[in-house]
Amino acid sequence: TQDLLVNSEKLLAVGELAAGVAHEIRNPLTSIAGFAHILPSAPLEKQPLYAQFIKGEIDRIDRIVNELLTLSKPRLMEYVSARLDSVLVEVSYLLEAQAHLNTVQLVPEFEANAPEVMCDVHQLKQVFINVMKNAIEAMPKGGCLTIGLRSIDEAVEVSFRDTGQGIAEDQLKRIGSPFFTTKETGTGLGLLACKRILDNHRGFMEIASKPGEGTTVTITIPLSRSNAVERGCTGSKTNIEQI
Ligand code: ADP
Ligand code: MG
Repeated sequence: TQDLLVNSEKLLAVGELAAGVAHEIRNPLTSIAGFAHILPSAPLEKQPLYAQFIKGEIDRIDRIVNELLTLSKPRLMEYVSARLDSVLVEVSYLLEAQAHLNTVQLVPEFEANAPEVMCDVHQLKQVFINVMKNAIEAMPKGGCLTIGLRSIDEAVEVSFRDTGQGIAEDQLKRIGSPFFTTKETGTGLGLLACKRILDNHRGFMEIASKPGEGTTVTITIPLSRSNAVERGCTGSKTNIEQI
């Protein structure tokens, strides 16, 4: 019965996701159809603008489909022993240009001699990239992204603390549910993908935020999957695991 329960929960989640996808893709499709309809008879000077609208909506569908593909791709996890500080350094290189454009400073605060973790490096990179991108996007006027790494009991804790706009309390609970986004060009799938990957590692993610001050995303990964960490539910933190 335990399995049945898990399966029916999964089915429910699939149904919700499918409904979300249909909705998210139908909106841009409706505006594409509308603009395509008026384009031929529109005044010449308006036509480039309408074509641009259509292009924008197509880009939106493209982003959604791409993120869904990463979510749904069946993949073999490849666990290797790795030090997360070097993984974080590599990811920081990748994001340096974007950080620079936003005048965001990346500040590593790594504890020395971090232990190795059994993990799928490629997938953890995806997690770190998604979380760091969100942080950078939350600081359009610049700021500081402090990346912490410390070892705790049988696990490693990675934290991303930004000085961005923060998250309103009523939005905090919705973060990580499919398609929840507050961004014009967001998909609301990034943190969902992170959650999936962290589930596979038997780890978890917590978000604490103060509107106007900033957000801290804390990720805990057990040194090995046989040491699943107990998730802590502290204070007003949102625990993405529960969504
Ligand atoms: P997306 O980035 O496409 O919107 P995500 O799943 O990555 O989707 O994030 C969902 C939402 O969570 C974002 O739209 C944003 O509102 C909020 N969010 C995530 N990280 C942060 C952060 N560091 N600061 C402020 N808001 C954040
Ligand atoms: Mg994102």
